[in-house]
Amino acid sequence: MPSITPLISQIIKPSCAVWEITLRCNSKCIHCGSKAGKIRHDELNTEESLNLVRDIRDCGYKGVALMGGEPLVRDDWYEIAKEIKKNRLDLSIVTNGLNLIDNLQKLKKLKPECVSLSLDGGTAKVHDYLRGIPGAFEKTINAINCLKAERFSVSVITSVSKINLYELNKIKNLLLDRNIAWQIQTTVPIGRFPRELTISREEFYTVALFIAINTKKYSFKRLPVIGAHCLGHYSRFLPNLGLSPWVGCQAGKSVLGIQSNGNIKGCLTLPDEFIGGNIRTQSLKSILRKLRTKKIQLKGYCADCDVVNLCQGGCLGTAYAIKEFDEPYCLRAIEDQLISSKHLPIKGKLDSTVSLMKSMLHTIRFK
Ligand code: SF4
Ligand code: SF4
Repeated sequence: MPSITPLISQIIKPSCAVWEITLRCNSKCIHCGSKAGKIRHDELNTEESLNLVRDIRDCGYKGVALMGGEPLVRDDWYEIAKEIKKNRLDLSIVTNGLNLIDNLQKLKKLKPECVSLSLDGGTAKVHDYLRGIPGAFEKTINAINCLKAERFSVSVITSVSKINLYELNKIKNLLLDRNIAWQIQTTVPIGRFPRELTISREEFYTVALFIAINTKKYSFKRLPVIGAHCLGHYSRFLPNLGLSPWVGCQAGKSVLGIQSNGNIKGCLTLPDEFIGGNIRTQSLKSILRKLRTKKIQLKGYCADCDVVNLCQGGCLGTAYAIKEFDEPYCLRAIEDQLISSKHLPIKGKLDSTVSLMKSMLHTIRFK
Protein backbone atom coordinates (compact mmCIF):
# COMPACT_ATOMS: atom_id res chain seq x y z
CA MET A 1 0.00 0.00 0.00
CA PRO A 2 1.46 3.43 -0.89
CA SER A 3 2.33 5.67 2.03
CA ILE A 4 -0.01 8.53 2.74
CA THR A 5 2.50 11.37 2.17
CA PRO A 6 3.02 10.85 -1.58
CA LEU A 7 -0.72 10.30 -1.86
CA ILE A 8 -1.42 13.66 -0.24
CA SER A 9 1.06 15.50 -2.43
CA GLN A 10 -0.40 13.80 -5.47
CA ILE A 11 -3.97 14.67 -4.55
CA ILE A 12 -3.43 18.32 -3.65
CA LYS A 13 -2.11 19.04 -7.14
CA PRO A 14 -4.58 21.29 -8.95
CA SER A 15 -6.94 19.00 -10.75
CA CYS A 16 -10.45 20.29 -11.53
CA ALA A 17 -12.04 23.72 -11.51
CA VAL A 18 -15.81 23.56 -11.08
CA TRP A 19 -17.30 26.58 -12.80
CA GLU A 20 -20.86 27.76 -12.47
CA ILE A 21 -20.99 29.66 -15.78
CA THR A 22 -24.48 30.98 -15.11
CA LEU A 23 -27.01 30.94 -12.30
CA ARG A 24 -29.79 30.85 -14.88
CA CYS A 25 -31.66 27.55 -14.89
CA ASN A 26 -34.52 25.93 -16.75
CA SER A 27 -35.27 23.63 -13.80
CA LYS A 28 -36.77 24.43 -10.38
CA CYS A 29 -35.14 21.86 -8.13
CA ILE A 30 -36.35 22.00 -4.56
CA HIS A 31 -32.90 20.87 -3.39
CA CYS A 32 -30.89 23.43 -5.38
CA GLY A 33 -27.89 24.47 -3.28
CA SER A 34 -27.36 27.71 -5.16
CA LYS A 35 -31.02 28.87 -5.42
CA ALA A 36 -30.58 28.92 -9.17
CA GLY A 37 -33.21 30.21 -11.58
CA LYS A 38 -32.52 33.80 -12.60
CA ILE A 39 -29.25 34.99 -14.10
CA ARG A 40 -26.91 36.89 -11.72
CA HIS A 41 -26.92 40.57 -12.69
CA ASP A 42 -23.10 40.68 -12.84
CA GLU A 43 -22.09 37.47 -14.60
CA LEU A 44 -18.75 37.37 -16.41
CA ASN A 45 -19.02 38.31 -20.07
CA THR A 46 -17.60 36.21 -22.88
CA GLU A 47 -14.22 37.93 -22.99
CA GLU A 48 -13.75 37.68 -19.22
CA SER A 49 -14.73 34.02 -19.36
CA LEU A 50 -12.27 33.18 -22.13
CA ASN A 51 -9.48 34.92 -20.21
CA LEU A 52 -10.43 32.95 -17.12
CA VAL A 53 -10.02 29.67 -19.02
CA ARG A 54 -6.39 30.61 -19.72
CA ASP A 55 -5.85 31.61 -16.07
CA ILE A 56 -7.19 28.24 -14.93
CA ARG A 57 -4.74 26.52 -17.26
CA ASP A 58 -1.84 28.70 -16.05
CA CYS A 59 -2.65 27.78 -12.43
CA GLY A 60 -2.07 24.12 -13.29
CA TYR A 61 -5.61 22.77 -13.31
CA LYS A 62 -6.06 19.76 -15.56
CA GLY A 63 -9.74 20.10 -16.22
CA VAL A 64 -12.85 22.25 -15.99
CA ALA A 65 -16.36 21.11 -15.12
CA LEU A 66 -18.99 23.49 -16.44
CA MET A 67 -22.15 23.67 -14.40
CA GLY A 68 -24.85 26.13 -13.37
CA GLY A 69 -27.65 26.83 -12.85
CA GLU A 70 -27.86 25.02 -16.16
CA PRO A 71 -24.71 25.59 -18.25
CA LEU A 72 -26.36 24.78 -21.59
CA VAL A 73 -28.78 27.74 -21.30
CA ARG A 74 -25.95 30.29 -21.33
CA ASP A 75 -25.78 31.75 -24.87
CA ASP A 76 -21.99 31.52 -25.18
CA TRP A 77 -21.47 28.18 -23.36
CA TYR A 78 -20.12 26.61 -26.54
CA GLU A 79 -17.46 29.31 -27.00
CA ILE A 80 -16.29 28.85 -23.42
CA ALA A 81 -16.25 25.06 -23.81
CA LYS A 82 -14.30 25.36 -27.09
CA GLU A 83 -11.70 27.55 -25.37
CA ILE A 84 -11.34 24.92 -22.64
CA LYS A 85 -10.59 22.24 -25.22
CA LYS A 86 -8.32 24.60 -27.18
CA ASN A 87 -6.24 25.02 -24.01
CA ARG A 88 -5.98 21.23 -23.71
CA LEU A 89 -7.97 21.05 -20.51
CA ASP A 90 -10.33 18.16 -19.82
CA LEU A 91 -13.93 19.25 -20.25
CA SER A 92 -16.87 17.96 -18.21
CA ILE A 93 -20.39 19.29 -18.47
CA VAL A 94 -22.81 18.88 -15.58
CA THR A 95 -26.35 19.29 -16.89
CA ASN A 96 -29.95 18.52 -16.01
CA GLY A 97 -30.35 17.21 -19.57
CA LEU A 98 -33.53 19.19 -20.31
CA ASN A 99 -32.18 20.88 -23.44
CA LEU A 100 -29.33 18.53 -24.17
CA ILE A 101 -30.79 17.15 -27.39
CA ASP A 102 -30.87 20.70 -28.86
CA ASN A 103 -27.14 20.92 -28.12
CA LEU A 104 -26.14 17.41 -29.18
CA GLN A 105 -24.36 18.44 -32.39
CA LYS A 106 -22.22 20.98 -30.51
CA LEU A 107 -21.37 18.38 -27.88
CA LYS A 108 -20.35 15.95 -30.61
CA LYS A 109 -17.95 18.54 -32.02
CA LEU A 110 -16.50 19.29 -28.58
CA LYS A 111 -15.91 15.67 -27.55
CA PRO A 112 -16.05 16.38 -23.79
CA GLU A 113 -14.26 13.97 -21.47
CA CYS A 114 -17.53 13.46 -19.60
CA VAL A 115 -21.16 14.56 -19.58
CA SER A 116 -22.77 14.27 -16.12
CA LEU A 117 -26.52 14.28 -15.71
CA SER A 118 -28.49 14.70 -12.52
CA LEU A 119 -30.91 11.87 -11.88
CA ASP A 120 -32.68 12.10 -8.54
CA GLY A 121 -35.40 9.50 -8.94
CA GLY A 122 -35.86 6.09 -10.49
CA THR A 123 -39.40 7.12 -11.46
CA ALA A 124 -40.90 10.19 -13.14
CA LYS A 125 -43.00 10.85 -10.04
CA VAL A 126 -40.04 11.41 -7.72
CA HIS A 127 -37.55 12.92 -10.20
CA ASP A 128 -40.09 15.41 -11.59
CA TYR A 129 -41.22 16.36 -8.08
CA LEU A 130 -37.64 17.10 -6.98
CA ARG A 131 -36.84 18.97 -10.20
CA GLY A 132 -40.12 20.89 -10.23
CA ILE A 133 -40.62 20.19 -13.96
CA PRO A 134 -43.22 17.75 -15.32
CA GLY A 135 -41.60 15.55 -17.97
CA ALA A 136 -38.05 16.13 -16.68
CA PHE A 137 -37.45 12.42 -16.02
CA GLU A 138 -38.34 11.44 -19.57
CA LYS A 139 -36.09 14.14 -21.04
CA THR A 140 -33.14 13.23 -18.81
CA ILE A 141 -33.46 9.51 -19.58
CA ASN A 142 -33.75 10.32 -23.29
CA ALA A 143 -30.62 12.51 -23.04
CA ILE A 144 -28.71 9.68 -21.35
CA ASN A 145 -29.81 7.22 -24.05
CA CYS A 146 -28.79 9.58 -26.87
CA LEU A 147 -25.40 10.24 -25.29
CA LYS A 148 -24.79 6.53 -24.85
CA ALA A 149 -25.83 5.86 -28.45
CA GLU A 150 -23.27 8.47 -29.56
CA ARG A 151 -20.60 6.82 -27.35
CA PHE A 152 -20.08 9.72 -24.95
CA SER A 153 -18.60 9.04 -21.55
CA VAL A 154 -21.62 9.53 -19.30
CA SER A 155 -22.03 9.80 -15.56
CA VAL A 156 -25.08 10.24 -13.38
CA ILE A 157 -25.21 12.19 -10.12
CA THR A 158 -27.85 11.41 -7.50
CA SER A 159 -28.36 13.69 -4.50
CA VAL A 160 -30.01 11.77 -1.69
CA SER A 161 -32.58 13.29 0.65
CA LYS A 162 -35.53 11.89 2.60
CA ILE A 163 -37.60 12.28 -0.58
CA ASN A 164 -35.61 9.90 -2.78
CA LEU A 165 -33.75 7.66 -0.32
CA TYR A 166 -35.91 4.72 -1.35
CA GLU A 167 -35.35 5.36 -5.06
CA LEU A 168 -31.73 4.24 -5.05
CA ASN A 169 -32.45 0.67 -6.08
CA LYS A 170 -34.69 1.80 -8.93
CA ILE A 171 -31.97 4.15 -10.19
CA LYS A 172 -29.45 1.33 -9.91
CA ASN A 173 -31.65 -0.85 -12.12
CA LEU A 174 -31.73 1.92 -14.75
CA LEU A 175 -27.93 2.16 -14.78
CA LEU A 176 -26.78 -1.42 -14.37
CA ASP A 177 -24.65 -2.85 -17.22
CA ARG A 178 -24.68 0.41 -19.18
CA ASN A 179 -21.15 1.63 -18.41
CA ILE A 180 -22.52 4.76 -16.75
CA ALA A 181 -20.57 6.03 -13.74
CA TRP A 182 -22.88 6.76 -10.80
CA GLN A 183 -21.97 9.28 -8.13
CA ILE A 184 -24.14 9.27 -5.01
CA GLN A 185 -24.06 12.30 -2.73
CA THR A 186 -26.09 13.61 0.18
CA THR A 187 -28.31 16.66 -0.20
CA VAL A 188 -27.40 19.20 2.45
CA PRO A 189 -29.44 22.17 3.70
CA ILE A 190 -27.95 24.96 1.61
CA GLY A 191 -29.67 27.16 -0.95
CA ARG A 192 -33.37 26.39 -0.92
CA PHE A 193 -33.27 22.87 0.53
CA PRO A 194 -35.00 22.59 3.94
CA ARG A 195 -33.14 21.07 6.89
CA GLU A 196 -36.00 18.70 7.76
CA LEU A 197 -35.65 16.86 4.44
CA THR A 198 -31.97 16.01 4.93
CA ILE A 199 -31.32 12.38 5.78
CA SER A 200 -30.63 11.32 9.37
CA ARG A 201 -27.25 9.90 10.38
CA GLU A 202 -28.76 6.39 10.37
CA GLU A 203 -30.08 6.97 6.85
CA PHE A 204 -26.66 8.35 5.86
CA TYR A 205 -24.99 5.16 7.11
CA THR A 206 -27.57 3.09 5.25
CA VAL A 207 -26.72 4.88 1.97
CA ALA A 208 -23.05 4.00 2.61
CA LEU A 209 -24.07 0.36 3.20
CA PHE A 210 -26.04 0.43 -0.05
CA ILE A 211 -22.94 1.57 -1.97
CA ALA A 212 -20.66 -0.90 -0.18
CA ILE A 213 -22.98 -3.85 -0.80
CA ASN A 214 -23.46 -3.02 -4.48
CA THR A 215 -19.74 -2.50 -4.97
CA LYS A 216 -19.23 -5.99 -3.60
CA LYS A 217 -22.10 -7.49 -5.57
CA TYR A 218 -21.25 -6.02 -8.98
CA SER A 219 -17.90 -5.48 -10.66
CA PHE A 220 -16.89 -1.84 -11.27
CA LYS A 221 -17.48 -2.52 -14.96
CA ARG A 222 -21.12 -3.50 -14.36
CA LEU A 223 -21.90 -0.73 -11.89
CA PRO A 224 -19.24 1.94 -11.46
CA VAL A 225 -20.82 3.45 -8.32
CA ILE A 226 -18.93 5.76 -5.98
CA GLY A 227 -19.71 7.88 -2.95
CA ALA A 228 -19.01 11.60 -3.40
CA HIS A 229 -16.71 13.60 -1.08
CA CYS A 230 -19.54 14.02 1.40
CA LEU A 231 -20.14 10.30 1.82
CA GLY A 232 -18.29 9.26 4.91
CA HIS A 233 -14.74 8.92 6.02
CA TYR A 234 -12.48 6.31 7.60
CA SER A 235 -15.10 3.69 8.39
CA ARG A 236 -13.83 0.96 10.68
CA PHE A 237 -15.90 -1.63 8.78
CA LEU A 238 -16.82 -0.45 5.28
CA PRO A 239 -14.41 -0.19 2.34
CA ASN A 240 -13.47 3.21 0.94
CA LEU A 241 -16.50 4.42 -1.03
CA GLY A 242 -14.71 7.06 -3.10
CA LEU A 243 -12.32 6.76 -6.00
CA SER A 244 -9.21 7.41 -3.93
CA PRO A 245 -8.25 7.32 -0.25
CA TRP A 246 -9.65 10.29 1.66
CA VAL A 247 -6.93 12.83 2.52
CA GLY A 248 -9.08 15.74 3.62
CA CYS A 249 -11.21 18.35 1.96
CA GLN A 250 -9.74 19.44 -1.36
CA ALA A 251 -11.34 22.89 -1.48
CA GLY A 252 -8.81 25.33 -2.95
CA LYS A 253 -6.32 22.52 -3.54
CA SER A 254 -7.21 19.99 -6.21
CA VAL A 255 -10.74 21.44 -6.33
CA LEU A 256 -11.66 25.02 -7.17
CA GLY A 257 -15.09 26.67 -7.26
CA ILE A 258 -15.93 29.59 -9.55
CA GLN A 259 -19.19 31.52 -9.38
CA SER A 260 -20.68 33.06 -12.50
CA ASN A 261 -19.70 36.59 -11.39
CA GLY A 262 -16.03 35.64 -10.96
CA ASN A 263 -16.10 35.04 -7.20
CA ILE A 264 -13.65 32.30 -6.27
CA LYS A 265 -14.16 29.78 -3.46
CA GLY A 266 -12.26 26.62 -2.66
CA CYS A 267 -15.43 24.69 -3.51
CA LEU A 268 -18.89 25.79 -4.61
CA THR A 269 -20.57 23.95 -1.73
CA LEU A 270 -18.90 26.25 0.81
CA PRO A 271 -20.78 29.30 2.13
CA ASP A 272 -20.00 32.82 0.90
CA GLU A 273 -17.72 33.56 3.87
CA PHE A 274 -15.25 31.31 1.99
CA ILE A 275 -15.07 33.59 -1.07
CA GLY A 276 -11.36 34.36 -1.44
CA GLY A 277 -11.71 37.15 -4.00
CA ASN A 278 -13.01 38.04 -7.43
CA ILE A 279 -11.07 37.61 -10.66
CA ARG A 280 -12.19 41.08 -11.83
CA THR A 281 -10.05 42.69 -9.14
CA GLN A 282 -7.38 40.08 -8.29
CA SER A 283 -5.48 37.45 -10.20
CA LEU A 284 -6.59 33.83 -9.84
CA LYS A 285 -3.08 32.97 -8.64
CA SER A 286 -3.20 35.43 -5.74
CA ILE A 287 -6.71 34.32 -4.72
CA LEU A 288 -5.57 30.71 -4.72
CA ARG A 289 -2.58 31.58 -2.50
CA LYS A 290 -5.00 33.13 0.00
CA LEU A 291 -7.42 30.18 -0.11
CA ARG A 292 -4.66 27.66 0.46
CA THR A 293 -3.46 29.32 3.64
CA LYS A 294 -6.93 29.54 5.22
CA LYS A 295 -7.03 27.45 8.41
CA ILE A 296 -10.19 25.71 9.55
CA GLN A 297 -10.87 25.55 13.27
CA LEU A 298 -12.25 22.11 14.03
CA LYS A 299 -14.20 21.52 17.20
CA GLY A 300 -16.35 18.92 18.91
CA TYR A 301 -16.17 15.32 17.81
CA CYS A 302 -13.89 15.94 14.84
CA ALA A 303 -11.28 17.81 16.93
CA ASP A 304 -10.85 14.75 19.18
CA CYS A 305 -10.97 12.14 16.42
CA ASP A 306 -7.97 9.78 16.11
CA VAL A 307 -7.63 10.42 12.35
CA VAL A 308 -8.30 14.16 12.36
CA ASN A 309 -4.88 14.98 10.90
CA LEU A 310 -5.64 12.93 7.82
CA CYS A 311 -9.32 13.67 7.53
CA GLN A 312 -9.44 17.32 8.63
CA GLY A 313 -13.11 17.11 9.51
CA GLY A 314 -14.41 15.50 6.33
CA CYS A 315 -16.31 17.49 3.72
CA LEU A 316 -16.22 21.11 4.87
CA GLY A 317 -19.21 22.08 2.76
CA THR A 318 -21.33 19.45 4.47
CA ALA A 319 -20.01 20.31 7.93
CA TYR A 320 -20.85 23.99 7.44
CA ALA A 321 -24.24 23.19 5.95
CA ILE A 322 -25.26 21.09 8.91
CA LYS A 323 -23.50 23.66 11.10
CA GLU A 324 -21.44 21.31 13.18
CA PHE A 325 -18.46 19.07 13.52
CA ASP A 326 -20.01 17.66 16.73
CA GLU A 327 -22.21 15.07 15.05
CA PRO A 328 -20.66 14.86 11.58
CA TYR A 329 -22.09 12.91 8.69
CA CYS A 330 -19.18 10.54 9.13
CA LEU A 331 -19.08 6.75 9.06
CA ARG A 332 -16.32 6.55 11.67
CA ALA A 333 -18.07 8.96 14.04
CA ILE A 334 -21.38 7.11 13.70
CA GLU A 335 -19.70 3.75 14.33
CA ASP A 336 -17.67 5.08 17.28
CA GLN A 337 -20.68 6.67 18.90
CA LEU A 338 -22.64 3.44 18.53
CA ILE A 339 -20.03 1.25 20.15
CA SER A 340 -18.79 3.80 22.66
CA SER A 341 -19.15 2.89 26.32
CA LYS A 342 -20.42 6.43 26.82
CA HIS A 343 -23.62 5.32 25.15
CA LEU A 344 -24.59 2.46 27.46
CA PRO A 345 -26.59 0.32 27.40
CA ILE A 346 -24.54 -0.71 24.36
CA LYS A 347 -26.51 -3.77 23.45
CA GLY A 348 -29.92 -2.14 23.51
CA LYS A 349 -28.69 0.84 21.53
CA LEU A 350 -26.80 -1.28 19.01
CA ASP A 351 -29.64 -3.73 18.54
CA SER A 352 -32.24 -1.05 17.92
CA THR A 353 -30.02 1.00 15.59
CA VAL A 354 -28.80 -2.00 13.63
CA SER A 355 -32.33 -3.33 13.23
CA LEU A 356 -33.47 0.14 12.07
CA MET A 357 -30.66 0.23 9.49
CA LYS A 358 -31.38 -3.34 8.36
CA SER A 359 -34.99 -2.49 7.74
CA MET A 360 -34.10 0.74 5.85
CA LEU A 361 -31.53 -1.12 3.76
CA HIS A 362 -34.04 -3.84 2.95
CA THR A 363 -36.50 -1.17 1.81
CA ILE A 364 -33.89 0.59 -0.34
CA ARG A 365 -32.75 -2.63 -1.97
CA PHE A 366 -36.05 -4.30 -2.63
CA LYS A 367 -38.69 -1.60 -2.85
S1 SF4 B 1 -14.96 12.28 13.07
FE1 SF4 B 1 -14.46 14.08 11.80
S2 SF4 B 1 -12.22 14.01 11.61
FE2 SF4 B 1 -12.88 11.97 12.31
S3 SF4 B 1 -13.09 10.71 10.47
FE3 SF4 B 1 -15.09 11.64 10.94
S4 SF4 B 1 -15.20 13.54 9.76
FE4 SF4 B 1 -13.06 12.88 9.87
S1 SF4 C 1 -16.17 21.07 0.61
FE1 SF4 C 1 -16.70 18.90 0.35
S2 SF4 C 1 -17.16 18.67 -1.84
FE2 SF4 C 1 -16.01 20.57 -1.56
S3 SF4 C 1 -13.85 20.02 -1.87
FE3 SF4 C 1 -14.26 19.93 0.32
S4 SF4 C 1 -14.77 17.78 0.61
FE4 SF4 C 1 -14.99 18.15 -1.55
